[in-house]
Amino acid sequence: MSDKPGKQKTGTERALSLHGIAASPGIVVGSALVIRRRTRRAAWRRLSRRQIPREITRFRDAVARVEADLVMLRNQFAEDLADALSIIDSHILMIRDRMIVDRTIDIIREQQVNAEWALAQALGNVKKKFEAIADPYIRARYTDVKYAADRVFSILSGDQDKPLADTGEQVILVAHDFSPEDVMRMRSDRILGFIAESGGVTSHSAIVARSMDIPAVVGLEQITSQCATGDQVILDGYSGRVHLHPTRDQQRQHLEYRRQHQAFTEEIAFYIHLSPETMDGRRVRLSANIETASELPAVMKYGAEGIGLFRSEFDYFAGECLPDEESLYRIYSRLLATLDPLPVTIRTLDMGGDKFVERMAANLPRLDPERNPALGLRSIRFSLRAPDIFLTQIRAMLRASVHGRLRILFPMISSLEELEKVLGMVHEARSDLLNKGIAVSEGLRIGMVVEVPSAVVMAANLARYVDFFSIGTNDLIQYTLAIDRGNEQVAKLYDPLHPAVLRLIKQTVDAGHAGGIEVALCGEMAGDVMTASVLLGLGLDELSMRPSALPFVKRLLRGSCSRQLDKLGNRTLQCGDGQEVRRFLAEQLPTLYPEEFGEL
Ligand code: PEP
Ligand code: MG
Repeated sequence: MSDKPGKQKTGTERALSLHGIAASPGIVVGSALVIRRRTRRAAWRRLSRRQIPREITRFRDAVARVEADLVMLRNQFAEDLADALSIIDSHILMIRDRMIVDRTIDIIREQQVNAEWALAQALGNVKKKFEAIADPYIRARYTDVKYAADRVFSILSGDQDKPLADTGEQVILVAHDFSPEDVMRMRSDRILGFIAESGGVTSHSAIVARSMDIPAVVGLEQITSQCATGDQVILDGYSGRVHLHPTRDQQRQHLEYRRQHQAFTEEIAFYIHLSPETMDGRRVRLSANIETASELPAVMKYGAEGIGLFRSEFDYFAGECLPDEESLYRIYSRLLATLDPLPVTIRTLDMGGDKFVERMAANLPRLDPERNPALGLRSIRFSLRAPDIFLTQIRAMLRASVHGRLRILFPMISSLEELEKVLGMVHEARSDLLNKGIAVSEGLRIGMVVEVPSAVVMAANLARYVDFFSIGTNDLIQYTLAIDRGNEQVAKLYDPLHPAVLRLIKQTVDAGHAGGIEVALCGEMAGDVMTASVLLGLGLDELSMRPSALPFVKRLLRGSCSRQLDKLGNRTLQCGDGQEVRRFLAEQLPTLYPEEFGEL
């Protein structure tokens, strides 16, 4: 709505509340500094043959300057910012990447064009490759390639942006987007936080913001046109809300929220070093789910007792080629050695289904489009169909096993036959390594993800062949309730508290225990305090979750006694549907845990 001419809006009328994505926690109030960057267009210039070598040198010099800048930035940061450092490292690798550097040089030579144009073409090809990837996390990594390339562009064209920290007063920065390096350069008292139009929770800029404690909201698509420099802004990085022209009441209220949040965070931090056990001494291992080694600092920060799930897919899609045994060995060894003596559970490649990948690496077998990818050639089925890729990963894991306490986890096992094939391959790989004099740890443990209903039904038989089960509820819910986990149309039916799901979990726990093995659970429901309260009552030995959820679940566990938990768990199994489970929990939890659920 446009303002009527001549009529001034009051403070309350101008106030505008917007909802974005909470990227990094914290509440700040201040005035906005809107940064509008010019869109760079690569001009086309034809070169004579004689000019080509000079153009290549100009391009190489620009790449070298960006690399030197990144290395300098990297060196300014202490090792405690490992998340941020590994992102900078990945940008350094990208800037050296053949897909960008060699391809640009080839284009300069072949098409006799200027470096800016050639770089834009090379980048366009890389973008297409990323766009073909279904996994949103990996697809989002194109942004990193783009950031790295943009810096080369700005050096080539000679127009570089003013450093962000050079602002005179305390401000909240607002822009279309911020690169991870931009965020690292925000380390200044004058920058209170930032708001971006693009990005998501898993974007690298968000990861850096979290590790540097810079409050941020991203994904507010219109913010640079809704907000002007000098406007008063409240940025709430807990809820993802941004208030423009806030009223005095809103400002007061948010300062009070900030005080409460700080007090709460301090209390939660207190739980990090306490042992995960109930008041009467029942211990439950609380471990972390991670996707890349860059998350290791968070694993330590939140007091995980090891890694319950390392999703190994990322390392297969990060580069142009499939990772070889050596590079996987290095990644796994580092994980194991860093956490030793805590266990590290590495799940073998879980490709396909919602993690469907068009051929990204040059030699990754192409998956034909399937009518029902979740029921198709995914996960362990894919690995068994591509034994070379699978064996390379198994060998890397077995070799790395001597560096710590490794647990190998096989996803989506649906039959004994499948499990026997997999174990046969592990056995062969192990004998082969031992024959060559390469050590494999005796303490290595082998487990399977229970995420297909047939595996639950056959759990007693399967338990004889493995050292542990890990229940993958994200998929178990999907396959039990016949709800595609990525389909928004049926998302409301996807119910972790459906008694059918709870009974399958209990059945798996009982079968595992009867077979003398431990049972973990690594689906999302482990990290939600309400569902975790039920899981603790179903007798699981381990819950594995995103690291930041650990202190909350630990506080819940420490405030419980085992009899009370068992009663709660058993009672949910008697319910007729998810609604009844919820009603029952809404009744019970506020009395059992007034601090956590007082307002249910
Ligand atoms: C699961 O299925 O519960 C799980 C932990 O694995 P993912 O979400 O990677 O399939
Ligand atoms: Mg799964």
